[in-house]
Amino acid sequence: KDFRNGVKPNWCPGCGDFSVQAAIQRAAANVGLTPEELVLVSGIGCSGRISGYIRSYGFHGVHGRALPIAQGVKMANRDLTVIAAGGDGDGFAIGIGHTIHAMRRNMDITYIVMDNQVYGLTKGQTSPRSDDGFVTSSTPDGSIERALSPMETALISGATFVAQSFSSDIKDLTATIEAGIQHKGFSIINVYSPCVTYNKVNTYEWFKENLTKLTDIDGYDPTNRTMAMNTLMENNSLVTGIIYQEERPSYQEMVKGYADKPLVQSQTNLEPELFQELVNEFM
Ligand code: SF4
Ligand code: MG
Repeated sequence: KDFRNGVKPNWCPGCGDFSVQAAIQRAAANVGLTPEELVLVSGIGCSGRISGYIRSYGFHGVHGRALPIAQGVKMANRDLTVIAAGGDGDGFAIGIGHTIHAMRRNMDITYIVMDNQVYGLTKGQTSPRSDDGFVTSSTPDGSIERALSPMETALISGATFVAQSFSSDIKDLTATIEAGIQHKGFSIINVYSPCVTYNKVNTYEWFKENLTKLTDIDGYDPTNRTMAMNTLMENNSLVTGIIYQEERPSYQEMVKGYADKPLVQSQTNLEPELFQELVNEFM
């Protein structure tokens, strides 16, 4: 049950992504998984490197495409626990179409976004999550676009598990990832994960001052979608905890012809010679 693989991350010291890595490792162990039962698929960005830093099956995909790959893996072998991970640029700019459709499709996978409100790997440009007025090399006079709210988008896209956490609160982050893995359906967890190098506005201190825990809001009910949306709007999305959870059959439970056994165990009509021919073509 040891999810450490000994590879030293090359994130900047203090990067929020270290805690996300540790929380995934702890959560996977806590829910009783072995490394052979876990697949971590990531996109491109600083956070995309995470699939190389955890002992499990891994796939470092292309920009904005972690979710199509993760869904393909789950369709092929539903016995695997599949986690997709990436950054806010990856998931909410180039990958937003996949994110929205994955949420309404409701496959039984978990999507963890390391949201630092900036592009880190390309040395600090404005992302769809950057706040109004955010100054970077791509917006020298400050961003004039409104920041996207991933959690509001998740609520209107039919996601059945919508949660937000903070890198600095590893206890909450681990528990949230555990709940996401155990949820039967698509779970999205947006993690405020500060970029200490290129975002000098949304820092650890800034989040500590501005985040509200949903458990501190009297009468908060995560099964009430209207209350979830109102709470996000009233708090500028700066809340942590399980925002919304709903029981709905997952794609795996609904899709016809899939119930008996996963694709990976089905007989294939592919002749061994043809298979070899296909492999040769790509070698
Ligand atoms: Fe982390 Fe930012 Fe450094 Fe990338 S540039 S590793 S996001 S601190
Ligand atoms: Mg980012």
